[in-house]
Amino acid sequence: MKPSTDLNDTLMARARQVIPGGVNSPVRAFRAVGGTPRFVQRAEGPYFWDANHQRYIDYIGSWGPMILGHGHPAVLEAVHQAANEGFSFGAPTEREIELAEAIIALYPSLEMVRLVSSGTEAGMSAIRLARGATGRDKIIKFEGCYHGHADALLVKAGSGLATFGNPTSAGVPPEVVQHTLVLEYNHVAQLEEAFAQHGADVACVILEPIAGNMNFVRASTEFTRRARELCTQHGALLIYDEVMTGCRVALGGAQSVYAKLIPGFEPDLTVLGKVIGGGMPLAAFGGKRAVMEQLAPLGPVYQAGTLSGNPVATACGLATLREISRPGFFDALSSKTRQLVDGLQGAADAEGVAFSSDCEGGMFGFFLLPELPRNYSQVMKSDSARFNTLFHGLLERGVYIAPALYEAGFVSAAHGPDDIAQTVGAAREVFRTLAAG
Ligand SMILES: *Cc1c(COP(=O)(O)O)cnc(C)c1O
Repeated sequence: MKPSTDLNDTLMARARQVIPGGVNSPVRAFRAVGGTPRFVQRAEGPYFWDANHQRYIDYIGSWGPMILGHGHPAVLEAVHQAANEGFSFGAPTEREIELAEAIIALYPSLEMVRLVSSGTEAGMSAIRLARGATGRDKIIKFEGCYHGHADALLVKAGSGLATFGNPTSAGVPPEVVQHTLVLEYNHVAQLEEAFAQHGADVACVILEPIAGNMNFVRASTEFTRRARELCTQHGALLIYDEVMTGCRVALGGAQSVYAKLIPGFEPDLTVLGKVIGGGMPLAAFGGKRAVMEQLAPLGPVYQAGTLSGNPVATACGLATLREISRPGFFDALSSKTRQLVDGLQGAADAEGVAFSSDCEGGMFGFFLLPELPRNYSQVMKSDSARFNTLFHGLLERGVYIAPALYEAGFVSAAHGPDDIAQTVGAAREVFRTLAAG
């Protein structure tokens, strides 16, 4: 299969000379799975082609944004037109209002949003806003949830229950994370204890409602309900980081899924990114008017961005939202994703490979574990050598999934039945080798 001159190897060698590790975001480097990253030449629909002109069925979709597949005609048209009118002005545009209105229309918990350029920026700003609005310092996050690479969030659990965390990155002073409490996901009693000890000082609880940065782990209904009740009771803000799940698990995000299980359920602040930019650098955070009006220039919480609300990015986001808002879009995407996940589960079962899987809307996860994990330490019980065999087996067969076992997968509207059948067939072959080995 491998050509005598692998152009991906050539490009990686060149990239390593000028870019740390050859990549501009660490997971792209294939460090977890080994081998050479595929340098993408171009993409169309559900596929991309690497430097060797090898085609792959893409289940990453730029880590979520490409929900329509690559190069959707209506989105391309909107982007071309916007680019012709100008790239960036540093002055307000009507399209920013349109996108804000479109997002608010989809999320009943939002009355106002501010647009920024990355999920990291949105999450960091939402936390600053929560601290500014409550006048409190402490924040609660959960192990395995990722909210971007802001200093205060690069933290792992401390030594004991309800102790404050330790930095997970060099360059983050311990003082910067001394107000960040890291708890176990889905652990209701631990959250209750944390509020009992620190409730009056907690500015916010931030979480991924369906955690996609530890593969795919749902918050239980009970955990969701208690997090809401405890925040309300103690005057803390509940922040839903829906950068991945927003407009992906459902048009109204994971909060719309939980609102069906818990009547009246709403977070106080929501962080969005990925799909709302349709593949362009665009993210947002929003909430109720009274909280959002604490932001500069109205209020004391400072936040700004040269490229925020960029006219080309907003055009791309608006065109994407328009397409995914069409009647039946999410039903079709959900059933396609379900078909893929059921196919993979069936193939694993047929070959006798321990496997568990789940999906919601256009997002899925699977584990080489007999049961779905509920928190990070359970996810990390996965055998990484077996996952790597699966990853490379699929890659050789033209199927590209995330190069790390703790990442979710994404189906787009462009994936067809043949793509899914090819994927399931490839997986079955690899499961056979896993079962034998
Ligand atoms: C991707 C992601 C982020 C960070 O967004 P960037 O645009 O990569 O900065 C934050 N939170 C969640 C849940 C994400 O999945």
